[in-house]
Amino acid sequence: MKVIDHIKGAKKTLFSVEVLPPLKGQDINSIFTTMDNLMEFEPAFVDVTYHREEYVYREVKEGLLEKKTVRKRPGTVGICAALKHRYSIDPVPHIICGGFRKEETENALIDLNFLGIDNVLVLRGDPIRSEGRFKAEDDGHAYAIDLLHQVVDLNNGIYLDPDLRNTNKTDFCAGVAGYPEKHFEAPNIKSDLRYLKQKVDDGAEYIVTQMFFDNQAYFDYVKLCRENGINVPIIPGIKPLTSARQLVSIPQNFYVNLPEELVDNVEACKSKEEVKEAGIEWCIRQCKELMEFGVPVLHFYTMGKSEVTARVAKEVF
Ligand code: FAD
Repeated sequence: MKVIDHIKGAKKTLFSVEVLPPLKGQDINSIFTTMDNLMEFEPAFVDVTYHREEYVYREVKEGLLEKKTVRKRPGTVGICAALKHRYSIDPVPHIICGGFRKEETENALIDLNFLGIDNVLVLRGDPIRSEGRFKAEDDGHAYAIDLLHQVVDLNNGIYLDPDLRNTNKTDFCAGVAGYPEKHFEAPNIKSDLRYLKQKVDDGAEYIVTQMFFDNQAYFDYVKLCRENGINVPIIPGIKPLTSARQLVSIPQNFYVNLPEELVDNVEACKSKEEVKEAGIEWCIRQCKELMEFGVPVLHFYTMGKSEVTARVAKEVF
């Protein structure tokens, strides 16, 4: 079932989660444990992130560097199929521009369609560390909107090869990302929203936001989106803060602000356990207020910490 149909049919705020494929070399049981911990809250859908190849340079002999390709977290498509089969839940694979030629994207979409997967979250992907700024593949997509066009084309039976006739039309529901505190590369929020609107006008059926810790950022964003003619559901992405280290790593990695009160609460803690409790308490408050606002879904970035998500979900669902 499509995410948009879950939302349309819902009588209350839905619960959903995002999981990360395990590190290469690990088995799938960590994902199953996550889901086993969360199934009692009846997730409407589960997003599975995609992690592209990175390059690392290793010194082989004095001064000589060897370029090595590593894919740290493979398995997105396989995990989606396994989750669908095991839990009868709707998986939402993330698909990205980075590292993909259009032909490879088409083949991946065909695989997803054959597996009966109805949803995709369409993203550009971040630049890889060794490149600094995002670089599309030759014959790949530079922006999420270009990838979205390929998904929409396939939904209309338009494949890359113009000679294909009587083609199968896929029927993917496509979501896209939104940034209440602005995407880090956008010169300003207005420009960011202009591109977001294009994605919605061109077929994106819902938006999932980057994490935020101050609900006002989300409320302001929804208002701005509506004023700018973006009228699809805007699903808030939620992450409970779980360690003092994240006071630095979250702003650094996700380009979001942490409210003074939350930072003060965490800095006043005397142990790791206290920090975790402060993060959970903050998240519960956030979720309750978002539910009162009438959000369609609370979407949790589990990041391998399903017990923390479960603690929050128990209080709010
Ligand atoms: P785009 O929509 O392409 O936007 C990127 C930047 O370009 C923005 O600043 C935008 O304003 C600008 N822009 C957009 N269109 C145009 C245009 N036509 N011309 C000029 N400028 C334009 N990354 C992963 O690698 N794997 C994941 O699984 C993953 N999951 C994510 C899930 C969510 C909910 C979110 C919020 C992010 C996720 N990301 C993931 C990170 C995401 O890929 C990055 O934030 C990336 O830098 C931007 O992706 P986007 O789809 O928003 O890009």
